[in-house]
This record gives sequence, structure tokens and C-alpha cells, in this order.
Amino acid sequence: MTGFGKLLLCLFLVSAAALALMVRFDRPASVDPAAVGPAAPSASMPVPASALPAVPPAAVDRRGLASLAIPVAGVSPDALVDSFDDARGGGTRPHHAIDIAAPIGTPVIAAAPGRVEKLFDSELGGKMVYVRAAPDTVHYYGHLAGYAPDLAEGLSIRTGTPIGFVGATGDADPGAPHLHFGVKRLAAGEGWWQGTDVDPYPLLAGKAVAR
Ligand SMILES: [Zn+2]
Repeated sequence: MTGFGKLLLCLFLVSAAALALMVRFDRPASVDPAAVGPAAPSASMPVPASALPAVPPAAVDRRGLASLAIPVAGVSPDALVDSFDDARGGGTRPHHAIDIAAPIGTPVIAAAPGRVEKLFDSELGGKMVYVRAAPDTVHYYGHLAGYAPDLAEGLSIRTGTPIGFVGATGDADPGAPHLHFGVKRLAAGEGWWQGTDVDPYPLLAGKAVAR
């Protein structure tokens, strides 16, 4: 073999080695299961990841009610206080809802999917929104400073859809703006203004299953 031939052979071998290295480095990334699957299975998830729905079903408590997103932007579960059994109206009526304190103008968002059933101006609740979350369940949002620009009766909403803004309309203390959020179960034939209040606190605080 001539000196030139040896040089060519040498160049060929170096190129081949470089190609082989590139292929070896490329291959692990292209077959990495984490890169193609929705999630790698873990010890706490015995069901194969591919068998799980894209959005896991919400936890449901013994009342048959699903867990809810906190309907005031930026509020953590630790900040919630269960005021369902507190008295209101100078002891004349039970509160039967939860008050979530936040500055005036803080965005109020949907705690769950549903359909906006009624925008209502109430003497006590101020600007209110009633959402049909299920055939027998209504969520309502009260003391709003105002409604979200696109909100309208009949609108289908998702968890997190803007509802309005925290305020102190109705009988709320202007010095303590908050969202008044309630959950009602309706018997057959009952309307959005009727129903039986249930405590939303465990549903919001992630304690739905434990109760
Ligand atoms: Zn309240």
C-alpha cells in the first residue's frame, strides 16, 4: 500500500469511528421512554402509565362530591378557614359557605367545570354567579366586585375560567373583602336559588377523601 493509500485508509477509519460515536450518542435519546411516554411509572403508581387517562378523575368524598380548585387566585389550601358552621346576621342564620379573604380585585376563577346558570345581584351576597357543576350540584360565588368580561349565562366553563373579581358587595365588610363560595345539592326539580348547602372546605382543602 502506498503512503497516500495509508493516509486515505486512516482518514476513512477516523471518519467511521466518528460516525459510530455519533450514532451511539444519538441512540439513547431517541429511545428514552421518558421522552415518548406521558410519564415514567413509579412505585406509587402500580397501574402502567399508558393505562391512565390524560386527566385523572377528581377525588370524590363520601357525599359523592368531587374535589375543587381554590377559586381565588394565589390562595393556598393552608390559608383556608372552615367557616361553614359560623353564625351570620347576628346569630340569626348559619353561614353555610366558606369565606376566602383576598384583596379587592383579586381574580376569582371557577372551582370546577360547569355551566353559568345565573348572574344575580343579591342584597346579602352582592354580585353573585351561580354555576351548575352537575345536574344536582350548584356552586355560587358572592360579594364580587365585578364579573369577568366574557362571563354570561349559559356559558360553559372549565376549572380556572375567570368568574370575576374579589370584592365586598352585598353585606360584606368593605374592610374585609372576600369571596363567599358555596356548594349546594339540589333535589329533583329544585332551581339554582334552592338546594341544601354542603361544606365546601374539605373539597377545597384537599381533604375530600379523608372525610
Ligand atoms: Zn360568607
